[in-house]
Amino acid sequence: MIVVKNVRILGGEPADIRIDQGVIAEIGQGLSGGEEIDGGGAVALPGLVDLHTHLREPGREDAETVQTGTRSAARGGYTAVHAMANTSPVADTAGVVEQVWRLGREFGHCDVHPVGAVTVGLEGRQLAELGAMADSAARVRVFSDDGRCVDDAVLMRRALEYVKAFDGVVAQHAQEPRLTQGAQMNEGVVSGRLGLNGWPAVAEEAIIARDCLLAAHVGSRLHVCHVSTAGSVEIIRWAKSKGWDVTAEVTPHHLLLTDDLVEDSPVGAYNPIYKVNPPLRTRADVEALRAALADGTIDIVATDHAPHPVEDKETEWSAAAMGMVGLETALSVVQEAMVETGLLDWAGVAQRMSAVPARIGRLSGQGQPLEEGAPANITLYDPSARTEVDPSAFASKSRNTPYEGMTLPGRVVATFLRGRPTVLEGKLV
Ligand SMILES: [Zn+2]
Repeated sequence: MIVVKNVRILGGEPADIRIDQGVIAEIGQGLSGGEEIDGGGAVALPGLVDLHTHLREPGREDAETVQTGTRSAARGGYTAVHAMANTSPVADTAGVVEQVWRLGREFGHCDVHPVGAVTVGLEGRQLAELGAMADSAARVRVFSDDGRCVDDAVLMRRALEYVKAFDGVVAQHAQEPRLTQGAQMNEGVVSGRLGLNGWPAVAEEAIIARDCLLAAHVGSRLHVCHVSTAGSVEIIRWAKSKGWDVTAEVTPHHLLLTDDLVEDSPVGAYNPIYKVNPPLRTRADVEALRAALADGTIDIVATDHAPHPVEDKETEWSAAAMGMVGLETALSVVQEAMVETGLLDWAGVAQRMSAVPARIGRLSGQGQPLEEGAPANITLYDPSARTEVDPSAFASKSRNTPYEGMTLPGRVVATFLRGRPTVLEGKLV
């Protein structure tokens, strides 16, 4: 039995939480008995759930493993992550998703829910064994070719039809491939000045519009990964106004960073640390994404944690890999972009980083409110802390963060997975 003393649930009045046998047994004042942990007035949130994590295992264990990636997740306050399918081999069969699921059970510092590929080998030619992955021990409900777009409209329609049988969802990486061939950054004023091939907003928006129409046509669930433009927000708002079952995510970096960092930043020009897919966009896009996350047009924050080894990232811009690590800074960036600006309170953060992602992924034991009888998945967060981001202190195997040297608000103090601490005093247990 553990009693966590002096925490503020969703930023409310001080309270104590008694945890017994993995469950929140009691919430009240002056609780005692068992092992006592001083919460120090931290904000208590339901354990965070990430719908979009790249754990890289199997195949790229030099970048991340299930063990290091879930350590990174726990340090970021996460109690569950969805592991994207673009591994090697690709998670496109029951065998591979069960392998990832078993690695999670054995080495995970949080729950690991494999995402299944939509098409065989992510090649966009033939549907993968969606039903077999859904029926496997991993019980896959989220399917995505993330990293690539399911650009064939017939395949996308079939996938949306297929997942209805088991209440699954297709999570689309919306990128029209022909419109983004050779693209290096956002298409706009800055790309024009730098002479880099641009990545037009329409390449994202056209796919989102098409997929919303397809999902409505077949009556299925669509989830839009990493929305990055103001125009995408307008399309999703329209689809929701029709009552269609469309959800969407935004990454922390798209809520904070803009494309002019490619030209001028604290770490110089053309620094590939800012190279990411979809690309960083403009200040107007950032403002639209923040407003959409606040008003519920965008449902959740998902990290798109994309670890890369140094040799793939610290090279010339055109050759560098796309992506940023994000699990250990997500909550701080959301505090900076959404809480400090008055756009969200802690209850709003809990909805968007725990309850709703768990619901989209159909996870039963995650994302529940901190109430008596709920599984004790709890994140304790000190929003008054200020931390200079030091990548060498990350639990992730990779260091490719755009926030190095920046001072961000907040610090994850502790994380509990079904009552068992995975992080205490900011350190892995
Ligand atoms: Zn993606």
